[in-house]
Amino acid sequence: MPALTSSAVDLIAQLNCGETSSFALTETCLQTISAQDANIRAFLSTNAEASLAQAKAIDEKRKAGQPVGKLAGLPIAIKDNMCTRGMKTTCASRILENFVPPYDAGVVEKLKAADAVLVGKTNLDEFAMGSSTENSAFQVTRNPWNVEHTVGGSSGGSAAAVAARMVPGSLGSDTGGSIRQPAGFCGVVGMKPTYGRVSRYGLIAYASSLDQIGPFATDVASAALLLEVISGHDGRDSTSVDRPVPEYSQTVEQPLTGLRVGIAREHFVEGLDREVEAAIKQSFDVYRSLGAEIVELSLPHSKYAIATYYLIAASEASSNLARFDGVHYGHRAAKFDNLIDMYSASRGEGFGPEVKRRIMLGTYALSAGYYDAYYLKALKVRRLIRRDFDAAFERCDVLASPIASTPAFRLGELVNDPLAMYLSDIYTISANLAGIPGLSLPCGLSSTGLPIGLQLLAAPFEEETLLRAARMFERATEWHTKTPPA
Ligand code: GLN
Repeated sequence: MPALTSSAVDLIAQLNCGETSSFALTETCLQTISAQDANIRAFLSTNAEASLAQAKAIDEKRKAGQPVGKLAGLPIAIKDNMCTRGMKTTCASRILENFVPPYDAGVVEKLKAADAVLVGKTNLDEFAMGSSTENSAFQVTRNPWNVEHTVGGSSGGSAAAVAARMVPGSLGSDTGGSIRQPAGFCGVVGMKPTYGRVSRYGLIAYASSLDQIGPFATDVASAALLLEVISGHDGRDSTSVDRPVPEYSQTVEQPLTGLRVGIAREHFVEGLDREVEAAIKQSFDVYRSLGAEIVELSLPHSKYAIATYYLIAASEASSNLARFDGVHYGHRAAKFDNLIDMYSASRGEGFGPEVKRRIMLGTYALSAGYYDAYYLKALKVRRLIRRDFDAAFERCDVLASPIASTPAFRLGELVNDPLAMYLSDIYTISANLAGIPGLSLPCGLSSTGLPIGLQLLAAPFEEETLLRAARMFERATEWHTKTPPA
């Protein structure tokens, strides 16, 4: 039976030369999930029978010499806020507990067209609102490196599934860091593409001007391949951009010459864990040794990012979540007196506390009399944040920073203090406000054995630069080869 220690790219090579079969690989994934997930709790559902049948069909296609897709036979997990036809899509919320979509999300269609095998749906903070996957209505996901610690969030299930080698790759969504931060906490690669690069058709909306879908994998080359497969224009998402998709997997091995790595003064201030700071500074030395120039610069408006993000995200969420009313989708209260009562009872029972908090915050920020002071002002500050990045990327090719101020915090440490939880997003949310691509890759381990993530950001649609710069670092270091203790 193949062990899941190889990267997605290596597994595809093994499948292509007949060293292993998709059936055997899928079986290994399902067995690893059965063995480990009672402890980690990354999956909300698995698709055992259908995925084995799918794997078998792909093996037969390959054997018959028929053309197969770029991910032919590769098992993949998907965050449970992306619609999968015939499979429950819950958003980790009671309100969608029994929702089975009649259609596939655009990215799911693309994965299927590339012959990937969908093994299951992963846990998240309810409606992707959170930074620790503790806000799921169903279960708390635990960090494979240390089960007393969180996996980050909101795509914590997808990050943990890859970190624990239950699947070689997965998809998450990133509205304010939800791919990059859990990737950092779990010691894997996670990437948020440019806003508009990947279709969100069939992604259950949280904050539509910020949401993007992206991949998790154990190395940069595999993330590049997954991104290549899911990218591209889709007329069903009006924000999807019609630009050719570069073959990221073909260029990722090419080092960049004359690379300029920007570091922002504002990213190295009080509150940054000493070990994290040391690991990030060592990463700069790695880049220096590879011939890169380190450019010091400033992102003066970054101090407003958290306030701006939490106003915009909550405002958009309050509008997006209005559709869950007990009529159109999901849970309907059993007892009610009249229509209005039915709405409020269904929503009251269906949404968890963090989702309610965001809906209230957002409704307040959008209401007459407060709109100009809060929402409109946040939009203006957002513009200034984007301008900071535009200026920065005149002087550098990628910006490097920590992914979070600390390694994975403990379960229960922040969950009862929403403001502290919001503040933990300090390094990730600016990229969403500006719409730029970013990724996290492993760059160290703390003295307690928890992964440390390096964040790289680039100008819009510079995914290729980002991936190549990340791969240069990866090639020069060993961090991506480290796995959680058995
Ligand atoms: N932690 C952020 C929030 O709670 C980001 C979540 C995300 O990217 N989906 O909104």
